[in-house]
Amino acid sequence: MGCTFCELTLLRSSSTVILEDSVVICIPDNRPIVRGHILLIPKRHVQNVFDLPEREYRHVMYILRTISNGVSLAYNPKMVAVFVAGYQIQEHGHIHILPLNEGLADTLSNTPLRDRDEWAKESLRAEALKVIAALSTSYKGGV
Ligand SMILES: [Zn+2]
Repeated sequence: MGCTFCELTLLRSSSTVILEDSVVICIPDNRPIVRGHILLIPKRHVQNVFDLPEREYRHVMYILRTISNGVSLAYNPKMVAVFVAGYQIQEHGHIHILPLNEGLADTLSNTPLRDRDEWAKESLRAEALKVIAALSTSYKGGV
């Protein structure tokens, strides 16, 4: 009831879908911390990604590596940071993927929130397309 991450039709219509299969959907975070900030969302509603059935969990990890590789190709960052989320604002477990060139704390303090919001409105789709292009050379699909 009212879980935004279970509203797949809404996610598809309001975001640029980077990758979708029967288990997951990947979209840009609409309040990105950095360019290329992506959400990997299992379609099954669980509060914690670690609570997924084993087969789905393994697939999520496979896609996590796939998307991280795409982000690396698209942005050539010093590192691709990943954090698993759930329990908090969103009740639907998901994973954040962020290309970083400095630590997360420095990234947060060096990028004012207002700037991030403005930037997000302008370029979420363009950033998603960069990752999609990178994936097209590295991801062959399959569940
Ligand atoms: Zn949900």
